[in-house]
Amino acid sequence: MTLLDQPLAMDRPLVRGDLPGPRSAELLERQGRWESNARVYGRHLPIAVEEASGSFVRDVDGNVFIDFLTGAGVLSLGHGHPELVEVATEQLRRFCHGLDLPSPAKDAFTAAQLSMLPAAMRDRMRVHFCGPTGANAVDAALKLCKTATGRGEVVAFSGGFHGTTHTAMAVTGNVATKAPVANLMPGVQVFPFSDCTACPLGLTRETCATNCVGLLERALRDPNGGIVRPAAVLVEMVQGEGGVVTADVDFVRRLRALTRQLDVPLVVDEVQTGCGRTGSWFAFEQYGIEPDVIIASKALSGIGQPVSIILYDERLDVWAPGAHTGTFRGNQVAFATGARAVEIVRRDDVLGNVRARSAQISRRLDVLRAHPWVRDVRGRGLMWGIELADPVSGGWAGEMAQRVQARALRAGLIVELGGRDDCVVRLLPPLNVTVEVVEIACDILVESIEHGTPPEADLTVLSDLSAAAVG
Ligand code: PMP
Repeated sequence: MTLLDQPLAMDRPLVRGDLPGPRSAELLERQGRWESNARVYGRHLPIAVEEASGSFVRDVDGNVFIDFLTGAGVLSLGHGHPELVEVATEQLRRFCHGLDLPSPAKDAFTAAQLSMLPAAMRDRMRVHFCGPTGANAVDAALKLCKTATGRGEVVAFSGGFHGTTHTAMAVTGNVATKAPVANLMPGVQVFPFSDCTACPLGLTRETCATNCVGLLERALRDPNGGIVRPAAVLVEMVQGEGGVVTADVDFVRRLRALTRQLDVPLVVDEVQTGCGRTGSWFAFEQYGIEPDVIIASKALSGIGQPVSIILYDERLDVWAPGAHTGTFRGNQVAFATGARAVEIVRRDDVLGNVRARSAQISRRLDVLRAHPWVRDVRGRGLMWGIELADPVSGGWAGEMAQRVQARALRAGLIVELGGRDDCVVRLLPPLNVTVEVVEIACDILVESIEHGTPPEADLTVLSDLSAAAVG
């Protein structure tokens, strides 16, 4: 390799010229001609990626960006962690696809995953390897609960996201994506989530007495409530795609008590919150509860290799052999890197870094709380969201969030959107992100919100207009 072939250091963002650059534009145009209209990320993040390292990606035009999307929370240790690349390369040579046969890599991965569970759960949880996506594991979890209980209904929550297969979409909140698809999985009851900044029951935190879960409780206990006892209750501890909405502690604890009393398996979807994202290995640990089923995927391999599992109480282990198969359930590379990722998380105190960087982000974004377009700044661990709302109408400001996303990209920061109308600007940095990278990213984000939204003067015009409309 000559000096010229060596990649430039990727340690700070650098964007030259308009986006997309000419080579990115060419690849985006070819993608548009060849791929489905359902393609999504390139529409708001118009770059084609050449390479990536740690917290950075470089596009094909030589622009470098801080990546706070990290494959939708997949790359927990950043792009191409050198130790994981070495482990992956070695495993590829040795053995890479093994259905569900045992192997040393799979054994190490399973032992590592079980070792990360709270001590009281370790010995009674079983693991099932699913087809390698979050949605496939959601499907598996619900099938397992149906088989074990002999029941058919599932309770899910407003604002939730669980994937886009027929089953996963049926238990997901977003109506626009469900509406065009007839006959999703039947038997889903959607109840209000403890979204305390926009309470679905219109209550305030001081007076609500967690009526959201109270409603479910009364519905399930009422002999005339119209709902039969479900096979499962499915919930996220932090709704990620839903806009970084953290479940209230009381909500989760009452949900656990209720499901236990009624003998309904509680399924916690940790696809996004799992593997350290919220500052503990699983987010449910912070609520002092023990779920019956845990769904995990995204960051399990630490380096973006597809893998997904459900971990469940052994009393639910009723499946016959072959009840949930799938060709790609034996990704040995994911197993090998996943086992090493657990070692790295322990050795490098990655969870400590998640908590420290979370506090740093909280301090740095505090200034945004007073901004007229910002309704809320919230986060748990390294999942953060800034919700934008129209200062005049109070409506979700999805278009403004898009403007902020585009402005941040031009300044060298990749962020995601989520929530209602995609009005929440979301951050999902690598869990080992440094102080310095967080500083630069927060500078860009604050600037993008302060200068990407209309200044105060324009707001008077807006409010005059809306007053005129009302009048
Ligand atoms: N559950 C949650 C909580 C998720 O965030 C996602 C993906 N964003 C899924 C399930 C679906 O995972 P996949 O896209 O791998 O099917």
